[in-house]
Amino acid sequence: MKREARALEAALARLEAAQLRRARVTVRERALTGRTLTLADGRELIDFSSNDYLGLAGHPALARAMAESAARAGAGSGASHLITGHGAEHARLEEELAAFTQRERALLFSTGYMANLAVISALAGRGERVVLDRLCHASLIDGARLSGATLVRYAHAAADEAARLVDADPEHTVLLATDGVFSMDGDLAPLPELSRCARARRLWLLVDDAHGLGVIGANGGGVLEHFGLGSDAVPVLVGTLGKAFGSFGAFVAGSAALIEFLIQKARTYLYTTALPQPVAAATRAALALIRQESGRRERLVSLVTRFRAAAHAAGVPLGASTTPIQPILLGSPAAALAAQRQLAAAGYWVVAIRPPTVPAGSARLRITLSAGHTEAQIDALAAELGALLARGVHEA
Ligand code: PMP
Repeated sequence: MKREARALEAALARLEAAQLRRARVTVRERALTGRTLTLADGRELIDFSSNDYLGLAGHPALARAMAESAARAGAGSGASHLITGHGAEHARLEEELAAFTQRERALLFSTGYMANLAVISALAGRGERVVLDRLCHASLIDGARLSGATLVRYAHAAADEAARLVDADPEHTVLLATDGVFSMDGDLAPLPELSRCARARRLWLLVDDAHGLGVIGANGGGVLEHFGLGSDAVPVLVGTLGKAFGSFGAFVAGSAALIEFLIQKARTYLYTTALPQPVAAATRAALALIRQESGRRERLVSLVTRFRAAAHAAGVPLGASTTPIQPILLGSPAAALAAQRQLAAAGYWVVAIRPPTVPAGSARLRITLSAGHTEAQIDALAAELGALLARGVHEA
């Protein structure tokens, strides 16, 4: 074996020994209604790990919109947005997303990861500072790294520390950024405080509301609607379309000047092929459902309450999250993996989340609820978790 290949094998063996090696499962079939998936080995499991919070990914309106658009416009966009890839579906979706988020303009990106890379590296640069929550999503951290700015991190949700860190060098600090709903913990960022901090010091505030938009707020306006904050309070809003929207892609919403600047400067916008139009068409169908039908959000709120009560009754320790993201902290990667295996044996797909996705010592089960779950599925999962924890998680 070549020396380079041996080094990779050794690195993989180290990950394996630390129970940190990751493996994919192939989903052979995903039920369009209901929350079951069938793995390649034939096991049918109830999915408690996807971010399809409203159950829209399998909705016939999205599939229909996608198929009709593909029949008209074809599968691929053929070029980047600034060449010939920008189509009518993209343009309409951007207008609709701007209206939904009550901002002047919105700009579509192929993924949330790319949106965050783009916006941070466009707004900050070498010699400047970017202040982030310690538990921010990897894409925000990578965006800050790519920008060349100094990355400064405050303790999770500690708005007072964020302000102190900004004040340590206000002249060079240009951006404060946070998740709206934290992806692995399900709690909300202290947005009113962060917004006061950013406004008083005239910094950009970026909120990535990947897990809040469509889900939280009476109209699905996300954490901003929850806290009653407008575009003055949070000038840069990032949303993703592969979660509650059941589709794929992402967007940045903000002032006309911000969007125009991103069109000039955002490298992950300029130098990549535009999202296929059928995907934008499916997202438009999802947005229409999100705007017209609040029933899925209301159902989700009631399922979260139900799960928390059932878990409490079964002796399952939960955090403070009131969102559909309900983590159960187990500590070691081995314990989290063992719990994942035992739940799979009982018919539930709940993926273990391990470092570096979460901090060392905080490996966990990340349970996500969806409006598509039934009450019986929720109750049965809570009971199974109770039994699992009472038996003790047997590390293999
Ligand atoms: N931001 C957050 C908070 C996320 O959780 C994710 C996805 N896990 C992303 C951004 C990236 O979005 P996408 O999957 O569209 O790249």
